[in-house]
Amino acid sequence: LKIERINIQEAILSSFRLVKKEAEHKKMTLILTDTEITYLNGDISRLKQILTNLISNAIAYTGIGGKIEVTVTQTLTEAIIEVKDNGMGIPEDELDRIFERFYRVDKARSRNSGGTGLGLSIVKYLVENFNGTIEVTSKLGLGTIFTVRLPFQD
Ligand code: ATP
Ligand code: MG
Repeated sequence: LKIERINIQEAILSSFRLVKKEAEHKKMTLILTDTEITYLNGDISRLKQILTNLISNAIAYTGIGGKIEVTVTQTLTEAIIEVKDNGMGIPEDELDRIFERFYRVDKARSRNSGGTGLGLSIVKYLVENFNGTIEVTSKLGLGTIFTVRLPFQD
């Protein structure tokens, strides 16, 4: 674990570069919307792992030509990162299960994306290591927003 001063916007752009191939393949638009540059103390490789998992999910579960928007805002006490897509969404009655290990919504629709269902359980674990929280809101057929809140100090 290496603690350093992380520029969150730079971490997001670096995650965008990691998923560039998948995004281009599906003709997706990746957007970073930020109000002001936000710094956070922590291990940058762990933050990138959180971001890359959420962004590649957004790409995997959104159709061709979709839009993925990442927004960074901050309050006095925390950084707030939102990852929003206009993809297939998640049924309301499954929302509280997606952070469980190996849980995948509707095996049939997820099958062609070939995941294991571990991504979000790892994300949740890493977010909690930052003493943060993660929440999801979703509308079936319209899209999904993951909101990560990371406190500046614990
Ligand atoms: P892995 O990430 O391990 O390769 P995975 O993507 O299936 O596999 P998770 O990242 O844990 O696993 O996600 C769990 C399930 O939640 C997914 O199978 C998918 O059904 C649903 N899900 C996750 N993100 C989204 C999203 N942005 N839009 C719609 N469904 C999603
Ligand atoms: Mg995943």
